[in-house]
Amino acid sequence: MPKIKYPYQFDPKKRKIASEYRRAKLIMYFLSLIISLATGFFILYGGLHLAIKDFVVQYPLETITYPFLVLTIFSITGLPLSFYSSFIFDHKFKIATYKLSGWITDYLKGTLIYFVFSLIVIAGLYFSIRTFDPWWFTAGILYVIFSISMNYIFPFLIIPFMWKTETYKDKSMRARILKLCKNIGVNGIKNVIVIKESEKSVRPNAVFTGFGNSKEIGLFDTLLTTFTKDEIETVIGHELGHYINRDILKGVVLEAVLIFPILYLTDHFVNLYSPMFGINGINDLAMLPLFGIIYGTLNFLLMPLSNTFSRWMESKADKFALEHVRKPVAQVSTEKRLADLHLDEVEPNPIMEFWFRSHPSAIRRIRMAENWKRAKLKR
Ligand SMILES: [Zn+2]
Repeated sequence: MPKIKYPYQFDPKKRKIASEYRRAKLIMYFLSLIISLATGFFILYGGLHLAIKDFVVQYPLETITYPFLVLTIFSITGLPLSFYSSFIFDHKFKIATYKLSGWITDYLKGTLIYFVFSLIVIAGLYFSIRTFDPWWFTAGILYVIFSISMNYIFPFLIIPFMWKTETYKDKSMRARILKLCKNIGVNGIKNVIVIKESEKSVRPNAVFTGFGNSKEIGLFDTLLTTFTKDEIETVIGHELGHYINRDILKGVVLEAVLIFPILYLTDHFVNLYSPMFGINGINDLAMLPLFGIIYGTLNFLLMPLSNTFSRWMESKADKFALEHVRKPVAQVSTEKRLADLHLDEVEPNPIMEFWFRSHPSAIRRIRMAENWKRAKLKR
């Protein structure tokens, strides 16, 4: 294995292409929103939402078959850009390492997961609308229950489905990680596994997976091969911070607070615009594309709120890592390495950061670690 440069300094070449990469990615993001909206309006103005309804009502399980067909249309129109962005473009910038067959397999698996969970949610939505008054209250409660269970099931179900994994073989590092968990007060972590990301991309990551007393820490092989042990420790310290701070729960609470007004407003706007498209209000099976456009727009408008909340949790997790791992130099080095690997802008436009970023910018994270180090040295 080649020796890892430490402490890492920004690579000027990577800094140069990072802004080009991010600008193009942002354009592709907006393009994908426009394609989704255009697909929705194409369905509504073309009367496809009514034609699909007339077709599916002849058969049973219409609240499953209707969303299935609508989602299929959106998947088809979204596919070319998705392929370009995550395969061709990411290969050009050496972020993706996928073979074409690997990309296709992952695309199919991802689509399968997306369909299964979306159909569960949409069937629950139709059920609430048809059974309860006001429907949005019950649908909101069902959604929160779904979201809580997803947070527990997801890593446990999705990681083995999407990635190859193996037990982490480095015994001394493994002992060091488990000791760190214990010292911090996170019990029940029995194992450290390696998640094989390198056949997909160069992106590093660390995650928690598993249930109750059989929890595991999953380290991407891309993290293990490109980061020093001290740096890896700061990454794990950050993840443990999320765990101790109960950030998953906090995220669910925020979602629970927002879902009721979102559904209430969606109800209002669906009923308002339904007559334009020959729909009989929220009770009509054919309201789904209109519902999707309105629900999606409201969520887009609320992005600054949920992202500000997320950035707040992220910087608290950074602070936690500083206080418990106590390796500010390694933490700064980690941030720089991460920014170069992801081709991330170190100092993004403040408005873009406010609206779209779930994590604080690299410059803020680096500054925090440097300030922490300075304050500690003074004491
Ligand atoms: Zn985090």
